[in-house]
Amino acid sequence: MRAAVVAIVGRPNVGKSTLFNRLVGKRKAIESSVPGTTRDRIYDNAVIGDFTVMLVDTGGIESGHSPKVSYRKSSIESNVQEQSKLAIDGADVIVFVVDVREELTSEDFHAADLLRRSKKPVILVANKCDNSRFEEARFNFYELGFGEPVALTALHSFGIDELEDRISEKLQGLEVVKGEAPEEEEGRVRIAFLGRPNVGKSTMINALFGKKMVVVSEVPGTTRDSTEIPFEYKEIPFTLIDTAGIRRRGKVEKGIEKYSILRSMSSIDQADVCVLMLDFEEGVTMQDCHVSQYILEQKKGLILVLNKIDQFSGKEREVAEHMAIHELQKKMDYLPWAPVVFSSALERKNIFQILELAKEVYDERKKEIPEEDLRIWLSHALKKHPPRGTRGKQRFNVLSVRQDGVQPPTFVFSCEWPEIMHFSYGRFLENELRSSFGFTGTSMRLIFRKPGDRGTHKKSRAVHSDD
Ligand code: GDP
Ligand code: GDP
Repeated sequence: MRAAVVAIVGRPNVGKSTLFNRLVGKRKAIESSVPGTTRDRIYDNAVIGDFTVMLVDTGGIESGHSPKVSYRKSSIESNVQEQSKLAIDGADVIVFVVDVREELTSEDFHAADLLRRSKKPVILVANKCDNSRFEEARFNFYELGFGEPVALTALHSFGIDELEDRISEKLQGLEVVKGEAPEEEEGRVRIAFLGRPNVGKSTMINALFGKKMVVVSEVPGTTRDSTEIPFEYKEIPFTLIDTAGIRRRGKVEKGIEKYSILRSMSSIDQADVCVLMLDFEEGVTMQDCHVSQYILEQKKGLILVLNKIDQFSGKEREVAEHMAIHELQKKMDYLPWAPVVFSSALERKNIFQILELAKEVYDERKKEIPEEDLRIWLSHALKKHPPRGTRGKQRFNVLSVRQDGVQPPTFVFSCEWPEIMHFSYGRFLENELRSSFGFTGTSMRLIFRKPGDRGTHKKSRAVHSDD
């Protein structure tokens, strides 16, 4: 079962990212967010009514084939239509935001037409109602054809409750959030390929599905538009989660796949290991950072694949690989643990290495560390870098650690005054865990709580590797 996708669309400056942060912020506050998490996100989970959804600010998604120009920076005014197409293809509920202080433009009307024709559930939001213009503007909004808009002030949370109610109402009827979770077969690696349009995903999948692998059968996934393809490689069972239809696409029509970004994003929820493909020549884009952050947030395994290495050869290639690693270390410094593969899907170079790595990552995610080993590890770690941090008479200290789960590996640290721990200490402990026990290629969860505290999120601090 995947989380429903709720997409926010609208012209620049209407308040999309403010609204995004407002909806996500509630959960972050509960989880006691720590410095470093406030990166500009465009995908994140939000709790809306009884649902946890994947919320997307489509204004931050880069346009298909111009990788280094994000919509936000672009001067192209048609972007609300592009956003609408992305949302129509991949979202379950669409929140269409307009600014109450501005006249509706032809852009708004064009986008509204697209959205209406798609028959997707759309909620119209009139933002910036902090002055009394709403009543005057109300009738204009009806012209967009979505009925009564929600009057909102994203800046101060006015109207947020009503918006959440309206979203919940739309979500109630959706199969995606109610469907049964698939039976997860022990030992079967669930893998998803992600990446911007044109990085070579469908070429890669078709290359992988060449001679060496046996496709058992294609079964419809648990959700609309999703396909799960069980296959075997060297007797290792895998399931390809192909929510975006990339396997078939190579043969079928091109063009619309540009809009499947949100669909492929939602396959993250259903995968154990995500393969994020980047174009070797183009390097790391903002979009890649956004996607990798979401993978981290979902606590999945991750392999980075730099594709199209065939475009370089000899010394030039060596230098380019070196520079690519350097760029990754700089731009994705929050995931030093993700393995990197240089591949050519076109020439079938290093492609099976991805599957072998995926199996390794899968095993790492299931690894259990014996209690005694953890105890010894902790005493070494604490000696190496004693816990620090005081507030008045309160003094942060770590008393013990235990593993609380796998997939992702989860460790609970019993602490005195966890609330005053500096986030860098959490990062230190994670690095130490990794250097002693591995966990290559997987996110992990570290929880810091008081002794005996079963820990609701309110009391404990979940420190993630992206924090
Ligand atoms: P986006 O481009 O649609 O993502 O818009 P932003 O969220 O970046 O907001 C654009 C500007 O509008 C920012 O200066 C926000 O502070 C402001 N803004 C957002 N929501 C509101 C609101 O409810 N009232 C007012 N007065 N300003 C708002
Ligand atoms: P997708 O949109 O990510 O699925 O990308 P495609 O698989 O459709 O590939 C986009 C274009 O890149 C096509 O013209 C491919 O032939 C080309 N391509 C894919 N992989 C490689 C590669 O490894 N090397 C080179 N040179 N081109 C590639």
